[in-house]
Amino acid sequence: MNQSILVVNCGSSSLKLALFDENEKKIASAMAERLNQADSFAHIDGDNQPIALPTNTNHKQALQALVSAFKEGRLMSEAPSSIGHRVVHGGETFREAVLIDDSVVAAISNCAGLAPLHNPVNLAGIEATREQFPDTPQIAVFDTAYHQTLAPRAFLYALPEAYYRDWAVRRYGFHGISHFFMVNEAARRLGKTPETTSIISAHLGNGCSITAIKDGLSVDTSMGLTPLEGLVMGTRSGDIDPGLFEYLRTRGVALEDVHKVLNHESGLLGISGQTNDMRTLCELANNGHEPSALAIEIFCFRLAKYVGAMMASLSHLDALVFTGGIGENSLQVREKTLSHLKLLGFNLDANNNDCHGRRTEGRIEHSNSRFPVLVIPTNEELVIAREAKRLAQAS
Ligand code: AMP
Repeated sequence: MNQSILVVNCGSSSLKLALFDENEKKIASAMAERLNQADSFAHIDGDNQPIALPTNTNHKQALQALVSAFKEGRLMSEAPSSIGHRVVHGGETFREAVLIDDSVVAAISNCAGLAPLHNPVNLAGIEATREQFPDTPQIAVFDTAYHQTLAPRAFLYALPEAYYRDWAVRRYGFHGISHFFMVNEAARRLGKTPETTSIISAHLGNGCSITAIKDGLSVDTSMGLTPLEGLVMGTRSGDIDPGLFEYLRTRGVALEDVHKVLNHESGLLGISGQTNDMRTLCELANNGHEPSALAIEIFCFRLAKYVGAMMASLSHLDALVFTGGIGENSLQVREKTLSHLKLLGFNLDANNNDCHGRRTEGRIEHSNSRFPVLVIPTNEELVIAREAKRLAQAS
């Protein structure tokens, strides 16, 4: 019997599919990009032949095209046994992954006010697969759910209590699927169980967040009501003084423009004036471009401060863990960040950091470091596939 698991990840203009077999091995993956734009395109990973898409392809059409391409390539012959969807915002309604039915669809739609760019496209993906595979169990796995274990002292803002009561204004946190993977994988590598493992997990990609995990549970995290708060990111500012809004108003800047600037024109891009891409920034900085060097400096300093802040939630620390495109690949960022944390006892082994811990099961700390430091490639698709399989079998 077919036991494959399809993982669906819809972004605002992209659709990613991954197909796993019953042993949790990835068989294939594919991606459609620039959806709802004139130049939509798609490809199966590892295949040089692009998949033709009509202009303004939507998520549903892209899903059909990619599934057909899987079938033509004999990567898939029948309906998968379960389908897992990444959903960005589950509000306070979803504390864990759930089997999707009409009431779940309605609840995800209710959370759309908190993630207007993400939840509607996640729902478009769910609608498309429910239509194409009506008999297959579908599971929603939320980016926010893992952080639902935060205590009020960590999730409440110092605002009038009615903001939380009436409008659900609170810290939700994101990248939960990745942080959950980190604690499980760190525990495995350290020879512990997740339930007894406490780590600080730094997910550093185009979006960045850091989470304190105590005995397997999220207890504090840097992203907040939206994924704008916290660390410096590719194009997002992270923390700023909220007084900026009033000050910019007096300078004639409209609220929508501030929102756009903070989300799309700030962070590494804003400071460097060049790019949001850390690899390019490192090259520019090495060639003497000072604003790029400054962008990296600010990124690492903010991150180091947050590592210190996350310590306040923990009674012991088994490891500091780096992941995401930057965390996994930038030895410079890891080195610079930890250079600010000598007082806490962090110390890196330069050779192991240089090769991203690939020869040492991810370990990059010096033998005299007070805490282990690990580099672990994230695998959010695998978490979603496992949850989909588990819940489909239980249904
Ligand atoms: P992600 O969103 O996880 O795909 O991460 C994207 C970020 O990772 C971008 O800023 C990339 O420049 C960065 N990145 C990927 N590879 C490297 C590398 N070798 N060195 C530095 N940054 C990298």
